[in-house]
Amino acid sequence: VLEFDIKTIRKDFPTLNQSVNGNPLVYLDSGATSQKPQAVIDATTKFYSQSNANVHRGRHALSEAATAQYEQARENIANYFHVQANEIVWTKGATEALNLLAYGLQNQLNQSDTIIITPLEHHANIVPWQVVAQNTGATLSVLPLEKNGSFNTDNCVKYIKQTKAKVLCISQASNTLGNITDLAPLISAAKAVGTLIIVDGAQGAMHLRPNLKALNCDFYVFSAHKMLGPTGVGGLYGRYELLNTLTPYQTGGEMIQTVTLEKSTYRSAPAKFETGTPNIAGVIGFAAAINYLSSLNFAQLQQHEQTVFKYAANELSKIEGITIYSDLSHNIGTLSFNYKSEHPYDLATLLDGFGVAVRSGHHCTQPLMAHLGLNGTVRASFAFYNTVQDVDIFINSLKESIALLD
Ligand code: PMP
Repeated sequence: VLEFDIKTIRKDFPTLNQSVNGNPLVYLDSGATSQKPQAVIDATTKFYSQSNANVHRGRHALSEAATAQYEQARENIANYFHVQANEIVWTKGATEALNLLAYGLQNQLNQSDTIIITPLEHHANIVPWQVVAQNTGATLSVLPLEKNGSFNTDNCVKYIKQTKAKVLCISQASNTLGNITDLAPLISAAKAVGTLIIVDGAQGAMHLRPNLKALNCDFYVFSAHKMLGPTGVGGLYGRYELLNTLTPYQTGGEMIQTVTLEKSTYRSAPAKFETGTPNIAGVIGFAAAINYLSSLNFAQLQQHEQTVFKYAANELSKIEGITIYSDLSHNIGTLSFNYKSEHPYDLATLLDGFGVAVRSGHHCTQPLMAHLGLNGTVRASFAFYNTVQDVDIFINSLKESIALLD
């Protein structure tokens, strides 16, 4: 494990060292996707230039090398999350993992069951459950959220105990606000009444580096591209015995044990859920991302990330007319805000002119926007590769943008 040295780290990310619109890039959109270290780019290129072959199929050298790397990647991500390799299923991202779960659980749900979602979920953790509720007659119910977008743990625990739902679907951290959910008490309440817990870790997986065995959730979904890895790959952790109870969401080659023209039998997890040729280069690139992350001292990384975030929050809150919606005390490093009644899109466009990349809009959380009474926000989402200098440029650019709007 290396000392956390921000100067060296920034050199590992080629995209960060460029100008945008004549200004040095300040990338504050890691909530949408993180930048990639050279090690990830190299691992992907090396696979295509040296060992490209299909996995699990050939007995020739290249295929065996590709299979070994692909399965080693499963070990690496399992170690990162403190789970077993056979509990990791590769998917194309968090969205596909949630769809896999929703479809996979459908046969276990009926009219007498309840599925709990929350008002701050990403659409990817809402829409699949609406479809399942429609298909099975199960009731969709909503965990209470305070006016300001935070959960009151006591209220939530009570709700979970009373509802005795079949499934609870909840984010580890909000993509819009960055607020971290205090999951432990909610998970123990759910366990006490036999509710399965699905955690959307798309935002939490990199910033919080969770030990999933300790967290004790049943399922956890993640996207590589938000963890320094390539796009189009991600996965699902599931407790092994539970994984095998799911109906496969897609069927075809690779996932079968035997096929006759009349019927087929399936392999056990994780193969049961990995039909077709997977994103092999993506998985190998993801393993390089996990290795890179794991090589950094996490305590130092978190301290740096929080220092930069708190500085940004403090500077932002000093600007008259700015409203911040994020909970600053338990946050992965995301600031959602507006300036007076200005349209978030206008601010984001002006900031882009200064080389500052932020996101604007509803962030795929329309129910949360409705809950907060907003049409959208500007979102500045930080990662460990951001610096105090990034914050200074962001704040100065914001002040200049505001001056143009006023
Ligand atoms: N859940 C959350 C909380 C997210 O932030 C995202 C991505 N914005 C997703 C799910 C969906 O992830 P992906 O687009 O990588 O499938």
